[in-house]
Amino acid sequence: MNKDEIQFPITFVVFDMEWNQPISYMPAPVNPKELPGEIIEIGAVKLTMDSETSFSLSRPFSIIVRPQFYKIMNRQVSRVINKSTDDLKRGVTFPEAYQFFADWCGDDYILCAWGDSDISILKSNLKIHGLSSEVNERFLDIQPLFGRVAENTAQQRSVAYAVEFYRIPQTDDFHSADKDAYYEAKILKETLTDYFAMKRNPDKQDSSDLPNLRQYISNPNLNTQFKWKTGVFPNEKAAVAVALKEKLFCPICSETIEATLEWFSSGHTWMSLWQCSEHGPLTAKIRAKKTPQQEFYGTGQLKFVNGNAARYVQEKWEEKLKKQKEIAEFPERCDENEQNCEQM
Ligand SMILES: [Zn+2]
Repeated sequence: MNKDEIQFPITFVVFDMEWNQPISYMPAPVNPKELPGEIIEIGAVKLTMDSETSFSLSRPFSIIVRPQFYKIMNRQVSRVINKSTDDLKRGVTFPEAYQFFADWCGDDYILCAWGDSDISILKSNLKIHGLSSEVNERFLDIQPLFGRVAENTAQQRSVAYAVEFYRIPQTDDFHSADKDAYYEAKILKETLTDYFAMKRNPDKQDSSDLPNLRQYISNPNLNTQFKWKTGVFPNEKAAVAVALKEKLFCPICSETIEATLEWFSSGHTWMSLWQCSEHGPLTAKIRAKKTPQQEFYGTGQLKFVNGNAARYVQEKWEEKLKKQKEIAEFPERCDENEQNCEQM
């Protein structure tokens, strides 16, 4: 089988979660870095495709989880999801809820969510409960797929935006896990409908360089990023210069990777694009950070990305080239906007 082909029937499990967050002025019972959000609700909808044009949606899965660590409702979170501390006393424990969810999912599916925060919150919750943080090995982020297929953009859109874009009837408010999962499944259905239609018409505008669906599916269990940090320096420039010298390897296979776009600065961030011949495109970013002693150190992050995120970096580079050209042609503009010139 061609590994780029999707085989029907195929099931997408679109999940969405709500989580509570620690309260900054209260001592947290666990390290907030290890548990940035505690899950209080899991919602999901299955989208099954029998062919490129045949879809069916399941009834929603929904379960309320009783938090064990962040038991007081964070006010900012409450404003969004409209729940009170009293509501957090209901529900089953996370390990129970997750077992229900895993049983409902079955065993042959592609896990989907809007953005990558749900999957990382899920993994942190599994870990804190001493459960294996290995999740389904195929994960599809709907957000960048929607961006590419619907608008041919690398911009990040909200669920509400995509609902409006596809004119999906809004019968409920957003921000309850099962309703959001339902809307996201509807968006995925429209996006996949468009995607397969574009594949059938490769000559049409926007269709020609449409990435394969596989490019949007990753394995969330692989270590797909590498972070590094420099020592401290008296100024930002020196810290960045050392960070830029880091030799980079593929975080999955440790093989040498090739720069497809060399390091350039955009504001205070340095960016570059890389490629592992086996595992695909990566982006790398470097920023300088300040210590309390007013010294600087460089931090870098190399990670696997989908085609959209790589395109974002490419677009930043093109923007910069354009600006540089303008400045070369009209140097007087440079004086008007000194900050822009400094960034060059
Ligand atoms: Zn690799």
